[in-house]
Amino acid sequence: MTFRVVGNDGLPLDAHLDIEGDEIIFHSRGGIRGRTGARNLDYGPGLRLLLQRVRASGCSLSGVWLDSDDVRLIDLDRRQILQGPELTSEPNEQFRIMSNRMQLFGRPPGAPYGGSRVKKVRLRIANPNDNISLEVKLALEWVPSDAPRRRRVATVDLKYVTAEHVWNAVQHLIEYPHELLPNDVSEFNAIINSNVRLPPRSIVSLAVSEALGLKVGTYDVPCDTEMLCHKILKDAGFTILQRGDSVPSEPIPISDDDRVWVEGGQALLVHLQRERAAGLSRAKKQSFVRLHGALRCENCGLDPVAIFGPEVGHACIEVHHSRTRIREMAEGHRTMLSDLQCLCANCHRIVHARLRRELS
Ligand SMILES: [Zn+2]
Ligand SMILES: [Zn+2]
Repeated sequence: MTFRVVGNDGLPLDAHLDIEGDEIIFHSRGGIRGRTGARNLDYGPGLRLLLQRVRASGCSLSGVWLDSDDVRLIDLDRRQILQGPELTSEPNEQFRIMSNRMQLFGRPPGAPYGGSRVKKVRLRIANPNDNISLEVKLALEWVPSDAPRRRRVATVDLKYVTAEHVWNAVQHLIEYPHELLPNDVSEFNAIINSNVRLPPRSIVSLAVSEALGLKVGTYDVPCDTEMLCHKILKDAGFTILQRGDSVPSEPIPISDDDRVWVEGGQALLVHLQRERAAGLSRAKKQSFVRLHGALRCENCGLDPVAIFGPEVGHACIEVHHSRTRIREMAEGHRTMLSDLQCLCANCHRIVHARLRRELS
């Protein structure tokens, strides 16, 4: 629920926040006063007042984190902006530290200026006497929401979600992290790559929207289906880990030829990593079957199921990154399923051998 801070004179400030359990999500400031779209213009006075009220009410802070959309993929402990003894310092000092850290976070190394001091932050509050709710203690005023409510997706609908839907949802969320479900703070994350983790329900909620042809962003996957969401993501080739767990670094299995190739240059390693990205191969093969009716090698036409049978035949088809020229593949380039080819293992070896010759 959304609230706003009320000033000591009893008048509401333009300083909005959400309360989720024992956490306060203080909204960012944006736009210019007097123009449309301006929001949370009393950010500074509102946040200062909130910190003072937390202290005066006998509550205390147990952590403050940056919570902007663009940092929600980063682990909590890397975006903490108030911790340890700072949590018991004077409210004005807390405000100063938080403002500085917000500004520095995300500023390019060496850049002398820049960075916003008015970002969205998440404050965890210890409320010792919780017979009285936080909004009462902190003198907050409820703001009725005019946003349409999200509709819940039924559990049975989840069975229509394929690896291809999951892949598309993941790519979409990497590009538009503000479309993560609000309040999706699972203990678990799907590992996308060494830098990116995403909460399972957000991925599945988007995937199910695509699977059922629903409008994106209006459907919610209920919390009690969390385990089912994990299964859907694992079946699509992703690893699920608990929030703080570090990602086991699995070396990419490569052939002897490819090893020589990889030693020759970083771009080639990027090619292999990209082809072996979590979830990619299953998504591409499913998409190929959906479009063509069966799996086959796009180079020599080999039909693996006819030769090796339906149980294991698909194992000899690999996914090759064909569309983008390797030299142009910069870090962060987004892989589309249409950039990929299904090749039998033999043809894939040969294609790589040709690429090696071209590049050496
Ligand atoms: Zn082939
Ligand atoms: Zn390849």
